[in-house]
Amino acid sequence: MKSYDTIIIGAGMSGLAAGIRLAMFDKKVLILEKHTIAGGLNSFYARKGRKLDVGLHAMTNFAKKGERGKPLTKLLKQLRIPYSELALNEQHRSKVVFPNKELSFTNDLNIFTDEIISKFPHEKDGFMALLEDVRNFNEVSLENPYESAKERVSKFIDDECLREMIFCPLLIYGSAWEDDMDFSQFVIMFKSIFMEGFARPEGGVRRVITLLMKKYKELGGEIKFRSGVSEILTEDTKAKGVKLETGEVLLADKVLSSIGYPETVASIKEDLEVKPRVGKLSFTETILCYDKKPAELGIKDTIVFYNENDAYHYRKPKTLFDEKSAVVCLPNNFEIDDYSDGMIRLTFMANFDLWENLSEEEYKNEKNKVLEASKDIVRKLYPSIDMEPNFVDIFTPKTIKKFTSHHGGTVYGSIDKSRDGKTPVNGLYLIGTDQGFLGIVGAMLSGISMANLHCLMPAGAES
Ligand SMILES: Cc1cc2nc3c(=O)[nH]c(=O)nc-3n(C[C@H](O)[C@H](O)[C@H](O)COP(=O)(O)OP(=O)(O)OC[C@H]3O[C@@H](n4cnc5c(N)ncnc54)[C@H](O)[C@@H]3O)c2cc1C
Repeated sequence: MKSYDTIIIGAGMSGLAAGIRLAMFDKKVLILEKHTIAGGLNSFYARKGRKLDVGLHAMTNFAKKGERGKPLTKLLKQLRIPYSELALNEQHRSKVVFPNKELSFTNDLNIFTDEIISKFPHEKDGFMALLEDVRNFNEVSLENPYESAKERVSKFIDDECLREMIFCPLLIYGSAWEDDMDFSQFVIMFKSIFMEGFARPEGGVRRVITLLMKKYKELGGEIKFRSGVSEILTEDTKAKGVKLETGEVLLADKVLSSIGYPETVASIKEDLEVKPRVGKLSFTETILCYDKKPAELGIKDTIVFYNENDAYHYRKPKTLFDEKSAVVCLPNNFEIDDYSDGMIRLTFMANFDLWENLSEEEYKNEKNKVLEASKDIVRKLYPSIDMEPNFVDIFTPKTIKKFTSHHGGTVYGSIDKSRDGKTPVNGLYLIGTDQGFLGIVGAMLSGISMANLHCLMPAGAES
């Protein structure tokens, strides 16, 4: 029976990053991935000659080359990947659009601050105090207690509309909670979006995954695709290894799981006391391609957080999807545009249970409704795009479930995170989404920090 120092379940961003760290320190490491390619929630595919990203709108946490102390800089240093290899292109400008107000932001925080001061002058002091609070907060401390971000932020900002506008991008880009988020997560997202900002690697997410895979293999790491784990083997609440769907058993001293907390617990036969809850948030994603590029029509936006209500309702909708708000991404509008057509991506909040129970015919019809609602928002935001798309692709919460095995098609996982990665099983640790660091950069940082903490630190030093 084959035996490893560490087995990693899942070849998403967190699994690959953890694998690189361990292989770098000569650990015998194996990544097991259910699918045929790496990337997980943020992978890629090709359709009708087009190379498409599954999820990528933008990488958050932009940092310029050599900028010290930034998550991206730390991440690249830990993985020993030169900055230039990511070939990052910065966004032009993004905005939050509410019924009677808009707030623009770029990768320069001063632009956002000026916008707030000009549109909400009565909140100048409050916003400055919030910035100070955010700057001084150690969001990555594993000891931080959970705290409602809405409550804490309302101590600084009275204006409800401004609060909702600040929360809108942060919630939809990274909260497993409905209508609120933990303050640590708020600070992570605030810094990564408003203070650091968006960039896109040239070639999209393929570039990131290719880099990670190359590095992992060069370091001697092993990876097996089409290798779904059906059971995490334990004895007296100590991890022993895994059993694959094929029945093969592989042993390991430690197991790192990126498949989610409820999914990890469900694959253990021993009765454990924890019952992590399945998160409620899932999405539809529409990709529309056009003959003209947005810039040709004078459109400069990169990402628009669009909301038709006065308040921002970030929750599982009671209908199949909620067309009253959306994220609208224009991936042509980064510094360098490597697409051949114009492209717009739209994300709606969606209800997994309702999608799952549709007949084939209904599913097709509902996808069409998503398409019409997407085109409707494009028309409202950009009347100059008065043409039909030449290519359309849509994925739903069912697609997310199919390709990631996340219970409930969740994107941000369970609301029960394990910040230190520990589970009730010794030697079994969570990485990625349900450790709590989300997004591409967050998931990679999670893999790195959990591998460092639980697999590379001398025994006893971790607690
Ligand atoms: C539509 C969409 C848009 C997004 N846009 C962005 C964006 O623009 N910017 C950004 O930063 N983030 C974005 N994200 C979020 C980002 O993709 C995720 O937060 C991140 O990729 C999560 O990585 P992970 O390693 O934690 O988990 P995952 O990517 O979920 O990886 C887990 C892996 O485990 C595998 N697996 C599951 N079960 C098993 C099993 N039993 N055995 C073996 N393997 C298994 C899965 O196939 C998967 O490959 C987006 C996500 C989606 C869905």
